[in-house]
Amino acid sequence: MKSWSTQQGNTITRILAGAGNAYFIRTERFLMMVDTGTSSSFKQLRKNLGSVMGAQEKLDVLVLTHSHYDHCQNAAGIKEAYQCEIVMGAEEASHATEGFTPLPKGTFLVTRWLTALGNRIGPPKFGYKAFTPDRLIEADQPLDEKKPNIRVIKTEGHTRGSISLIIDREVAIVGDAMFGIFRNSIYPPFADDKEAMVYSWDKLLQTGCRIYLPGHGRPVHRELLRKNLKNKQLQ
Ligand SMILES: [Zn+2]
Repeated sequence: MKSWSTQQGNTITRILAGAGNAYFIRTERFLMMVDTGTSSSFKQLRKNLGSVMGAQEKLDVLVLTHSHYDHCQNAAGIKEAYQCEIVMGAEEASHATEGFTPLPKGTFLVTRWLTALGNRIGPPKFGYKAFTPDRLIEADQPLDEKKPNIRVIKTEGHTRGSISLIIDREVAIVGDAMFGIFRNSIYPPFADDKEAMVYSWDKLLQTGCRIYLPGHGRPVHRELLRKNLKNKQLQ
């Protein structure tokens, strides 16, 4: 499993990759996870989580960058297994308690078509076991008052309630605010509000992070984010 460490000694490990990434963060004070992948990877997720956590350890927090099925289909299962606190953007909560989030708008012709098709299929494929988040994020804030270096910030655009986790101003976990699947572009194939998304890129760049871990694909380096932002601002 690929991992990244910050100068302050916090470690981020990618515990799921493929259909959707999930990350585990070890800090001095608590153990966290960001996003959960789809239900088909639940077994793999539990196995990998087991191997990065000690037998006596307990997962404290699950942060969900947003409520799309490919990020939170295992949220209820993880909560059941670890009794962890679930943190998510306030605007996503009504979807979580319903167990379905409508698919985001496509940003290309083909993804617009995919969204229309997907929303016709709806909950049977894109739903998830409903859950109630324990803490809702309405504004940027430290995850724990005693640990100001780990912050949750609002990064609206892909969805209204999207959030990112900023670790030591070095590593950001950004959900679908960026995609790591194309060579030179981080542009998400799906986003509800494209302008807000570009605004969030700027906000993420200003965190000073050098690496941005997306919900899909490879890590995005600061320079690539800067280039993509500049191109969009020039348009
Ligand atoms: Zn998404």
